[in-house]
Amino acid sequence: MKVKVEAGVVLSRFTTLGAGGPATAFARPESLDELKEALAWARERNLPVATIGLGSNLLVADGGFEGLVLKLGGELAEARVEDERLFAGGGAANAVCLHRARAAGLGGFEFACAIPGTIGGGVWMNAGAYGSDWATILDRALVVDEQGPRWLSPAELGLRYRHSELRHGQVVARAEFTLGPLPEEQIKANVARLQALRKAAQPTNKRTFGSVFKNPQHELSAGRMLEACGLKGHRIGGAQISPRHANFIENADGARGADAIALMAEARRRAHEQFGVELVHEVEFLGRLELPPL
Ligand SMILES: Cc1cc2nc3c(=O)[nH]c(=O)nc-3n(C[C@H](O)[C@H](O)[C@H](O)COP(=O)(O)OP(=O)(O)OC[C@H]3O[C@@H](n4cnc5c(N)ncnc54)[C@H](O)[C@@H]3O)c2cc1C
Repeated sequence: MKVKVEAGVVLSRFTTLGAGGPATAFARPESLDELKEALAWARERNLPVATIGLGSNLLVADGGFEGLVLKLGGELAEARVEDERLFAGGGAANAVCLHRARAAGLGGFEFACAIPGTIGGGVWMNAGAYGSDWATILDRALVVDEQGPRWLSPAELGLRYRHSELRHGQVVARAEFTLGPLPEEQIKANVARLQALRKAAQPTNKRTFGSVFKNPQHELSAGRMLEACGLKGHRIGGAQISPRHANFIENADGARGADAIALMAEARRRAHEQFGVELVHEVEFLGRLELPPL
């Protein structure tokens, strides 16, 4: 077997929050063949499989994940532009894709400038910002699972607000997007404007996993609702609800997964009590993590 499988790799270093325990097994496939090999390895051992990108939407249990964690590298993390299309590996960082698109004078991906993840992570939850999302520009994604690889359209992926129908064990290996011609200067100006908006409203230079909850069907966003519940700055253990934006949890000092879960449970309880709303988490869980029922 070409792909190396490591035991007990601690996942906290692969997440932007910086919390979480070890994976039973960890591998970095760098080609489609290596990916298929790693999936077969897990299947032979009856181990569940999860793929991680930059861990920017991920809360990992302190007890870790009992399964194989994949992190795509090599050709599965590369990006190139041809004509008006972006071809990217599932592990390609959004920042690299945006850079390639800008250098080629292609616009439409600027909304991703403040989404610190990968192409595969974006497909998984139809990442989006400022009125655009993956579904707006994605043509198709190559999904690999134990049945083999197949190309799926946004409709087949079931993309809607921060959601796809993908399940663990299904790996987004590649994706193709159609962008449109735009002068490089205009792209730079768009990015600068969106980054300024982001900086004005959300915590920067803090370890977070992005938005904690999806926005509910309510006149208040999740952030405004939790702010009205008096939760800004509320702290449990090493985790704190951002004093700047109440829909973010910051790693204030050695946060554990359990601290973040306890904060989320408290936030849901208060939003339910004050507004009758059941907040749904946007952050993805990996390992044995559960929010108590309301
Ligand atoms: C400061 C900050 C700001 C953010 N702002 C936004 C925002 O504006 N809009 C937004 O939508 N999100 C935002 N996020 C959340 C996050 O960046 C996005 O959800 C991003 O798309 C996650 O990508 P990732 O590669 O880090 O995925 P991860 O966090 O590593 O994984 C997230 C999920 O995707 C799955 N996954 C990852 N890669 C693959 C793959 N190749 N194949 C199959 N499954 C995969 C994982 O198993 C997991 O379930 C923000 C996060 C931070 C920290």
